[in-house]
Amino acid sequence: MTEQVWSNPDIYRIQVGLPQNPLGNLNVYVLCTPERNLIIDTGFCRPECRADLWQGIEELNLDLGRTALFLTHLHSDHTGLVWDFVSRGIPVYMGRVDLAYFTDASPAKRWEQLEEIWVREGFPADQMTRQTGENQARLYAPQPYFPAIPVDNWEKIPMGKLTVLALHTPGHTPGHMVLYLPEERLLFSGDHILFDITPNISVWYQVPNSLKDYLSSLSRIRALPIQTAFPAHRFYKGDVYQRIKELLEHHARRMDEVLAAVDDHPGSTAYELAGNITWSARGLEWEAFPPHQKWFAMGETLAYLYFLLDTGWIFRQTEDGKLVYHLTSGGVNHKNHKQEVIQI
Ligand SMILES: [Zn+2]
Repeated sequence: MTEQVWSNPDIYRIQVGLPQNPLGNLNVYVLCTPERNLIIDTGFCRPECRADLWQGIEELNLDLGRTALFLTHLHSDHTGLVWDFVSRGIPVYMGRVDLAYFTDASPAKRWEQLEEIWVREGFPADQMTRQTGENQARLYAPQPYFPAIPVDNWEKIPMGKLTVLALHTPGHTPGHMVLYLPEERLLFSGDHILFDITPNISVWYQVPNSLKDYLSSLSRIRALPIQTAFPAHRFYKGDVYQRIKELLEHHARRMDEVLAAVDDHPGSTAYELAGNITWSARGLEWEAFPPHQKWFAMGETLAYLYFLLDTGWIFRQTEDGKLVYHLTSGGVNHKNHKQEVIQI
């Protein structure tokens, strides 16, 4: 389904369905100017997404000779169909940091490096093998090493008279980028800011504190004049300042919950702690979670734990061959005085 969501400049939204995925759909935006069109993100590399995407592009009757693709971040639901564009000679732009994840190491190597973190933090090895076959991010990823133009923070994407700036907003991924139209005060927020779901913040190898990165990216976006933001999933436009406030409150609450779990279950692994915090998984008990959901829950728990390690409120040590967590005296003090964890 394709609809116009803005005029002057003309912006269209193609809804690309994401089957069997809680995200529901990807909003692919198409920004049209007399000089050039820009398509933002693609959908998974699977036939259902390809059909939705290309039907939408055909409905818009775009001149593909004057069209470019921008990829907000490396996740497969945003990059999966990149080769459809490469094979048609359409230029592809992508943030330099996330692009490096496709060019510096093989996808297998990248997953291995993440799995090492998960196992070290207590994720059961047998569940690891099971989740590998269920994770859509792996099943529908693009082939790596595609040609793309690397984009840096505040770089202009050539769009004729229209100013389109790419801004580096690390957190959801290390190289996530949003697109900002300063004259029109419009923002394509990718997965940095979503309106009816909370962007997943996980841990990455080579990134010491992705949650801290995410929160400071939010604060940099909050400082910009923005009248409307177009997010990459589901509900397609909204008040960015109200949403940033809600996201900050959400992370402050969750951080307190993780700190309380470390206090109530000292000497637990990250995996055990993940089982002691609440998840909105349709009322399922932790043990009944499908392994790929445990994988996501674990990533999110680790993001909070790494943030709290950095703050100095918890510490980590090896006990009986396992990495486990405890509160520091600073952490106890914080709990007793109910200070704000997150101040940006
Ligand atoms: Zn994403």
